[in-house]
Amino acid sequence: MNRGAEHHVDVLVVGAGPTGLVMACELARHGVRCRIVDKAAVRSDKSKALGVQARTLEVFESLGIVEKAIAAGHLAEGINIYAGGKKACLSLEGLESPYPFVLILEQSETEQILEDRLRALGGTVERQVDVPSFKQDGEGITTTLLHAGGREETVRSGWLVGCDGAHSSIRHTLGVPFEGAPYPEELWLADVRMESSLPRDQLHAFWGKGVVALVPMRGGYHRIIAWSRETNAGHGDPTLQEIQAIVHSVGPPWVVLSDPIWLASFRIHRRMVQEMRQGRVFLAGDAAHIHSPIGGQGMNTGIQEAYNLAWKLALVRGGHAGPALLDSYQEERHPVAASVLRGTNFLTRLVLMHNPILRAARNLALPFIMSRTSVQQQARDMISEIGINYRRSPIVGESWFPADMERDFSAGPTAGDRAPDAPAVGLSFPATTRLFQLLRGTEHVLLLFGGAHSTAQGYRQLAETGHKVQQRYSGLITVHLVAGDTMPGIGLDWYGSVVLDKGLILHRRYGAVSPCLYFIRPDGYVAYRNRPVQLEAVENYLRRIFARRS
Ligand SMILES: Cc1cc2nc3c(=O)[nH]c(=O)nc-3n(C[C@H](O)[C@H](O)[C@H](O)COP(=O)(O)OP(=O)(O)OC[C@H]3O[C@@H](n4cnc5c(N)ncnc54)[C@H](O)[C@@H]3O)c2cc1C
Repeated sequence: MNRGAEHHVDVLVVGAGPTGLVMACELARHGVRCRIVDKAAVRSDKSKALGVQARTLEVFESLGIVEKAIAAGHLAEGINIYAGGKKACLSLEGLESPYPFVLILEQSETEQILEDRLRALGGTVERQVDVPSFKQDGEGITTTLLHAGGREETVRSGWLVGCDGAHSSIRHTLGVPFEGAPYPEELWLADVRMESSLPRDQLHAFWGKGVVALVPMRGGYHRIIAWSRETNAGHGDPTLQEIQAIVHSVGPPWVVLSDPIWLASFRIHRRMVQEMRQGRVFLAGDAAHIHSPIGGQGMNTGIQEAYNLAWKLALVRGGHAGPALLDSYQEERHPVAASVLRGTNFLTRLVLMHNPILRAARNLALPFIMSRTSVQQQARDMISEIGINYRRSPIVGESWFPADMERDFSAGPTAGDRAPDAPAVGLSFPATTRLFQLLRGTEHVLLLFGGAHSTAQGYRQLAETGHKVQQRYSGLITVHLVAGDTMPGIGLDWYGSVVLDKGLILHRRYGAVSPCLYFIRPDGYVAYRNRPVQLEAVENYLRRIFARRS
């Protein structure tokens, strides 16, 4: 794009909830000039989203805040569902992530940690700033900002990202419909102190005539979400006594509740936009989709959207990729949002069942269904969001040939899948013990695998490819040569980073029986893979993504 000097900033982010804050942090990490504004005078102190899923924690690892988030929260390692006198468990133990749990952390804390990170990266949230209007043209966007006290300011930016929540004024100004409807049910919410013998490292859901979910928080508190015929009476926020009564009738009768921090009645909606982008304006997070909180996906989905879009904006802003790269935001994220809406709708209908016969059948079938390994894995991958993939995206690809169709390359992640973690010792970066540590940067990463039976000739070819890519795409792609226990001939041809894969665990995880390569995007997804390594095929792919370099 034309980076005209009239642009005050590259990107204007509207809304400093979790989506906008991750957007601003990521843009700052990528060196993109951005401003983030929010109309609220102070950050909300409401706990709202409590469940930070594994994939979001992986994003937090890249952002450098995962330790802080984990230290501030509470870990839940599984979900117990009690129905029809039986208990079914979903364990997160087998999740293929360094974070096999749900982190229970109040949204207000998550936002605080993100805002601190933004400050450390040189950014700041500008508060009490509303966005009454904006206008886009071929070169950028002119936005009117309304400051506290009525002062108006005009900002020119290359792009605008609307992260301004369910009532998004950016979406309204664009005239993008928010299609969907509310659910008829009204739910109760309570953050209260709870005395009980229930294990605090699990979430608990009781399904009977109504529903009671108990989420352990820090300091002996629990979030309670409840629904029954009484909650639907439409009489406003519940009292502590009413919450106690519904917990006793649907949930465990022995628990004692006290010290409420937040008591509320709320209605859930299922809505989404069909267009997450209009020209230079993007919608992300609740501005683009809202759904039931059952399943704990809303905040996490918004964070993934910001993570998906930021690196693309950075490449286009820097002139390293054409503007068509930005089309992939809609192409990749819209199907994910639609699938989250379908999944949470299914769960919500399953949980809030009115018909007693269907409820009895559900309760009978549940323990049997939940005991199946495939169901456990599917549920884990969905809730944790590590199962999300962009396999149908036009900007991912792979080339490998029928003669090479041994099962093992199929065992590796397909183009568009999330790149999995595995042990990896960085010879050039001695503190490195896991692949994810090498993926924390803002560049694409090229992993050149020597294969299980590596030869000096195989390494020489990899080194040649690595050198060419490094020369042509320096500053955009970081190259690592992944060697097995032995490294024949590396010293002769390669002076770049070497990752030692002791016991070939990383090779196996990536199906790298023979020499092959993987490109990993800055958001941790496989952009491209190739076997046998062919420089021409690799260059063809890179030309699809990056602007031509001499
Ligand atoms: C009770 C409850 C429980 C939930 N539990 C979970 C859970 O466990 N897991 C999960 O993932 N999600 C959960 N959610 C959903 C989650 O809270 C939302 O999905 C999340 O807040 C969306 O983040 P966001 O940044 O997109 O929008 P928001 O958090 O709504 O932030 C939008 C920001 O934009 C600002 N803004 C609005 N209009 C303007 C304007 N015109 N100009 C400038 N600024 C503006 C607002 O002040 C706000 O700060 C829950 C929600 C509720 C209510």
